[in-house]
Amino acid sequence: MRAWGIILAAGQGRRLAAATNGIAKQFLGWKGVPLYWHSARVFARCARIAGLVFVLPPDSDEHLRLEQLAEAEDPGIPLKVVAGGALRQDSVFAGLSALPMTCRDADHVLIHDAARPFVTPFLVNRVLDMLAEGHDGVIPGIPVTDTIKLVREDIVQSTPDRSLLRAVQTPQGFTTAVIRKAHERARKEGWEVTDDASLLERCGHAVRMVEGETGNCKLTRPEDLHMLYTAAPVVTPCTGFGYDVHRYVEAGEPDARPLHLGGILLERAPHVRAHSDGDVLLHALADALLGCCGQGDIGQLFPDTSADCDNLSSAIIVDEALQRTLRAGMEVVHADLTIIAEIPRIAPFRDEIRLNVARLLRLPTDRVGLKATTEEGMGFTGRKEGIRAVAVVTAIRSVPREQTD
Ligand code: MG
Repeated sequence: MRAWGIILAAGQGRRLAAATNGIAKQFLGWKGVPLYWHSARVFARCARIAGLVFVLPPDSDEHLRLEQLAEAEDPGIPLKVVAGGALRQDSVFAGLSALPMTCRDADHVLIHDAARPFVTPFLVNRVLDMLAEGHDGVIPGIPVTDTIKLVREDIVQSTPDRSLLRAVQTPQGFTTAVIRKAHERARKEGWEVTDDASLLERCGHAVRMVEGETGNCKLTRPEDLHMLYTAAPVVTPCTGFGYDVHRYVEAGEPDARPLHLGGILLERAPHVRAHSDGDVLLHALADALLGCCGQGDIGQLFPDTSADCDNLSSAIIVDEALQRTLRAGMEVVHADLTIIAEIPRIAPFRDEIRLNVARLLRLPTDRVGLKATTEEGMGFTGRKEGIRAVAVVTAIRSVPREQTD
């Protein structure tokens, strides 16, 4: 047995075009190659498949990409390319015309829609096995789960017995001479059909059904596209919250540090008491980062009893917290920070602080929010005894979903 496969990739896919920016579905990229190439790989893996004909749209450059694909990943069997026609059956006819002419070289043919990229070698072999038993037409089908009604002008005519119905798939397999003759007759007599087995039926040939596969779906409507992306990673958002306060002290007091906010020195502002450099905003930010990955707080990482942390730059603290989120498989995507203080005025420094925080987080500035407020004279900030800051960080964690193939 020497069977050829015909991969039909000439359709316009109008129902899907809006969801794919006008790209015909069979040319959509999936796992790095166009959809039709997935079917080609499956066919090439079956020992009895001797060659493949690709039917492409007449006006496309896709044959150039196909050449590159075949060069990068030699399927080990001859490949041919032909231009399709207006109707599906015109495209099939073009594909049949491209087969080796002697039956010895292509005694059987499998016709497959490129929009069914989940076809398996098991299914291809099941169709080939039945052809090898001497059937002229073999098609895969699956039981229908919906009740089907025959309807004319919105009036139900009848309800066929569901147990007798099958939804038909591709690849459909044929004896080459028989399907050729059937297509020639269809052209002569002007028959229009939606699958190739119908032509055999009209010519009076028996068509044998084998079990199809429920996974062998056809991508037809925009909502079908999600089937391609079940192997996409599971993305989980994580939110971390941070809070910090520092007391204002006179310059020259023990542990008094000039006020830094977001790594920016605010001259003529009160000093803060701190073991590190006392950057209340970066401390809140670091705790929010650690909150995303559930790794405690900066007091645990940088204890204020440690001499190493004496006057430590808070940029180092933020960087360590950021590295921990990265090592935990997270990508920080946004930060929103608020400074709460009666004095000093934050507005003159706001842009500089925001820019520096974005730099420390390696984020574009528009992914960082920075606000400042007072507490209307109430509480310790209202009494100008200190400064408070809060931060919220959003990160995403991507976990690869189990591959489906
Ligand atoms: Mg602090």
